[in-house]
Amino acid sequence: MDSRSYRDPALMSALTTCLQDWEKPVSIMEVCGSHTMAIGRWGIRKLLPSSIRLLSGPGCPVCVTPMSMIDQLAGLKDVTIATFGDLIRVPGERISLEKARAQGLDVQIIYSPLEALKIARKRKTILAGIGFETTIPGIAQTVLEAERQGISDFYVYPAFKLIPPALKALLKINNSIDGFILPGHVSVIIGARAYRFLPRDFGRGGVITGFEPVDIMLAISRLLKQLKNGDCKIENEYSRVVNERGNNKAQDIIYKVFQPERALWRGLGWLENSGLGFKPAYERFDARLVFSLPPLEDYIKSGCRCPDVLRGVIIPSECPLFGSNCNPAHPLGSCMVSSEGSCAAYFKYERNSNEC
Ligand code: SF4
Repeated sequence: MDSRSYRDPALMSALTTCLQDWEKPVSIMEVCGSHTMAIGRWGIRKLLPSSIRLLSGPGCPVCVTPMSMIDQLAGLKDVTIATFGDLIRVPGERISLEKARAQGLDVQIIYSPLEALKIARKRKTILAGIGFETTIPGIAQTVLEAERQGISDFYVYPAFKLIPPALKALLKINNSIDGFILPGHVSVIIGARAYRFLPRDFGRGGVITGFEPVDIMLAISRLLKQLKNGDCKIENEYSRVVNERGNNKAQDIIYKVFQPERALWRGLGWLENSGLGFKPAYERFDARLVFSLPPLEDYIKSGCRCPDVLRGVIIPSECPLFGSNCNPAHPLGSCMVSSEGSCAAYFKYERNSNEC
């Protein structure tokens, strides 16, 4: 198909018609926040019969970042915090980085990790290292560049997350997910083979797909076919950019600098080997060691049901605070802040629909 076909109205209409006959209730999770946004933007949910429930997952990096990391960064002095945009508005228990900036902390929004390196040439700088397999190679490369240039005041707070361990943990917590729409961008790096454990160990299928409406409808259609035939497997509908083994070069850069470690996920708790920390050779870049920061703690704002949203236990509109006490202007949880957050997606695209 050429790129225009992925928005082709006739194809969408045919796929929508095919899905209308599905009667058995199924829950399909879109793991990635970009898919959540795409589903809202293209009105996909409204095209599906009520028997097909789409759930959001833990694939929004800002959403799964623990509040305690925000509190730790916001409490630092005499250092610049370099962060990607969305994190700045996420409330910690005490304060957000945005409010800390209003009180004098130097917080700078960056669009590339190399910008943090530029700042570090003049000032002691911590890069808030959040993100999944897609973002991590760029940050690893920036660490290597800092070493090459001999920049001594550049540090990273490594709060990276890996998708496969999160899916394993998720299925142990929430057994009601019937299949997965698997993330496109992450899969470019890790490859389709990274998900083989889903059918093998959990009897669940998944389809890797892109972000156009036809991509998403095709993924749903393929998952339903798997369920109908009792043949759960990993399919790659995004073969125009994803291959079986992933991007070896990106993987090499990641694992030159970082190694797996236990990580704290908002919504999933502490998970073994689900994050990445520095290898001993690069520990001098680790902000946690250099600034003697304590281990993260797992707490959440009272009443906020982000953990249940991230586990696919509820959809955002089932949170009693959705759209009233919690809205994009006054977010209580990270899922309402992030441009990939499911509460933000529901608020933007679906708050007036029947389901909400
Ligand atoms: S609507 Fe707000 S309070 Fe409710 S789960 Fe989402 S972010 Fe948390």
